[in-house]
Amino acid sequence: MALLIHNASEILTMKDGLGVIKNGSIMIDKGIIKDVAHMKSDQKKFQTIDATGCVVCPGFVDSHTHLVFAGTREDEFAMRIRGVTYEKIGEMGGGIMSTVMKTRAATEEELYTLAQKRIEALVRHGTTTVEIKSGYGLSPAEELKMLRIIKQLREHTDIDIIPTYLVHTIPFQMKRRDYIDVVIEEIIPKVAQQGLALFCDIFCDKTAFTRSESRKILLRAQEYNFKLKIHADELTYSGGARLAAQLKCVSADHLIYTTKSAIEAMNEAGVIPTLLPGTSFFLRIKKKPNIKAFKETGSAIAIASDFNPGTCMIYSMPKIIALACIVYGMDIDDALLGATKNGAQALDMAQHTGTIEPGKQADVVILDIDNYKKISYQFGEDIVKYTIKKGKVLYGKDSRMYS
Ligand SMILES: [Zn+2]
Repeated sequence: MALLIHNASEILTMKDGLGVIKNGSIMIDKGIIKDVAHMKSDQKKFQTIDATGCVVCPGFVDSHTHLVFAGTREDEFAMRIRGVTYEKIGEMGGGIMSTVMKTRAATEEELYTLAQKRIEALVRHGTTTVEIKSGYGLSPAEELKMLRIIKQLREHTDIDIIPTYLVHTIPFQMKRRDYIDVVIEEIIPKVAQQGLALFCDIFCDKTAFTRSESRKILLRAQEYNFKLKIHADELTYSGGARLAAQLKCVSADHLIYTTKSAIEAMNEAGVIPTLLPGTSFFLRIKKKPNIKAFKETGSAIAIASDFNPGTCMIYSMPKIIALACIVYGMDIDDALLGATKNGAQALDMAQHTGTIEPGKQADVVILDIDNYKKISYQFGEDIVKYTIKKGKVLYGKDSRMYS
């Protein structure tokens, strides 16, 4: 039966800005949005959800996560609060390498179960499309193991999962050049042959790969038809954003130290800048991305969670939207576009999701607030009432409202 969401205080269509429709309805059939308007329909023909007093917006798109991992790093978190830097913790054997050890030690079943629970949590917080990176395996066998788990998750969950092979860091006891050869000669071809990833991403920063190493690896990935992403300019000015522009990456992510001229170059090349305010908040980093420059260039900024056990354990996109406002000083309108329409662009998924308009997948969240500005204002509350993916209700807070 078709589904009608009606009486919404506000529908945020994300067409021409937020595209707010007051007192609107959405008609859904066979998982697709059929109509959006001030509709008065014959409700007997529909299953209905009464959205009185609620904001309805596109399902959130979380375009940057490291969701498959084993173990947690709360001791490191406490050390950082005491003033030990992220880089110092890495030198002491913590950081990414500690998650690599725990993830390698876990079985595929254990990792799958952990990740599945996290996806259920994401759905409760309104995420309907999520990108998941590998990168805690490092060796060919362990990276392929991670990507197989992401593939299984993709096949067995209702939300869209976009898989990314992340070239994360250089393993201990391996020379840089040797590892880069392994990535180029072995891992990238195998990931491609087994169809395990759509994107290839690289950590281009002072603790990981240089700009020229990143270029070499991404060019190889391009030969195998991967779409490209870069972790750029997070810890220092790495030149990653400029490289993203040169290679026409789909997105460049973090961008804390990115200069205005690099922002302009990315914009001209059509790279979606993806900001991760949860990480800045979690790591208590004072340096912020140049929001003013992004706005002046007219960039379509995406925002994402960067959910991972070391630098951001926040997976709730409403919280990330609030942090984009509170920590980065973004307007709520821009933050919302970043978590929906622009996030979809950062995953090359804009033709399917990220807006509420006829023909798109019926990926919709219903929020228990009467106007959208309360998303960042009511920061402490869990406001998601329903999460709907391709017309199917995956999560509903108050079942009495569903008839
Ligand atoms: Zn990341």
